[in-house]
Amino acid sequence: MTEARFFEVLLWIWLASAPVIFFSLFFIAAPYGRYRRGGWGPELDNRVGWVLMEAPSPVLFAVLFWLGPHNGIATAWAFLAMWLGHYIHRSFIFPLRMRSGGGMPLSIALFGLLFNLGNAYLNARWLFHFSGGYAEAWLLAPQFVAGVAVFGVGFGINRWADHVLRSLRAPGETGYKIPRGGLYRFVSSPNYLGEIVEWCGWAIATWSLPGLAFALWTFANLAPRARAHHRWYHESFPEYPSERRALIPKLW
Ligand code: NDP
Repeated sequence: MTEARFFEVLLWIWLASAPVIFFSLFFIAAPYGRYRRGGWGPELDNRVGWVLMEAPSPVLFAVLFWLGPHNGIATAWAFLAMWLGHYIHRSFIFPLRMRSGGGMPLSIALFGLLFNLGNAYLNARWLFHFSGGYAEAWLLAPQFVAGVAVFGVGFGINRWADHVLRSLRAPGETGYKIPRGGLYRFVSSPNYLGEIVEWCGWAIATWSLPGLAFALWTFANLAPRARAHHRWYHESFPEYPSERRALIPKLW
C-alpha cells in the first residue's frame, strides 16, 4: 500500500469513527477525573497519563513538518506555531499545574496516545506534504484570517476556563466546587466549549478534511462529557445555578 492510500484510508476511518465515539460517550463516560472507577485495568498517575497521551502530538507534528517537502513557506510556520502553541501547553504545562492527585487508567492514556498520533499524522502530513503546500497568499485568504481569529478566541476561552477550575482547589485539595464568573455563568464546561471553538478555527484556517476530522472528534469527545458534567453538577450541588446550560450558552 502506498502512503497516499494509507493516508486516505486512515482519514476516512477517522471521519467515520467520530459519530461512533459521539454516541458511545453518551452511554459510557471516559473513566478519568470525576468518573474514575475500577474495571479499566492498571492505573498510572494522571499527570503522567496526560503527558504520555498528549506529548507525542507536538513531537510527531514537528517531525513531519521538518520532513515535509513544503515546510519552507511562511504558512507552514504559521500552522506549526498554532499546533505547538496549543500542544506544548496541553502536554507539559497543563499536567504540571493540575491540582488533582488521582490516577488514570493506562488504557485511557493509551487510547489518547493513539488518537493523538493518528491526528497529528493526518494533519501534519496533509499540511506539509499531500496538500502540495499552502502558498504564502493563503495567509491573507478569508478562511485563514477568520480561522486564526476563531482559533485564538477558542484558545483564550479554554485557557481561561481551565485556569478558573484549577483555582478552585488549594494545593493538596481534591474535592469539587461550583465554578463561577465569566462564561461559567452561562455553561458548565466553557473549557470544552473553548476547545471545540479552537479546533473549528483550525478546520477553517486549514480548510482541510484532516482539520474537519479533528474538529468533529473534539466535538464528539467533549459534547457528551459536557452533558455528563452538567448532570453531575446538578446531582452533586442542589444550589447549582438552574439557568446554566451544559455547553452552548442559552441553548444546551
Ligand atoms: P475537566 O473540566 O473535567 O477537568 C479539568 C481539571 O479541573 C481537572 O484537574 C479537574 O480535576 C479539575 N476540575 C474540574 N472541575 C472542577 C471543579 N468543579 N472543582 C474543582 N476542580 C475541578 O476537564 P478534562 O480533564 O476532561 O480536560 C482537561 C482539558 O483537556 C480541557 O481543556 C479539555 O478541553 C481538554 N481535552 C480535550 C480533548 C479533545 O478531544 N480535544 C479531550 C479531552 C480533554 P479532576 O481531574 O480531579 O476531576
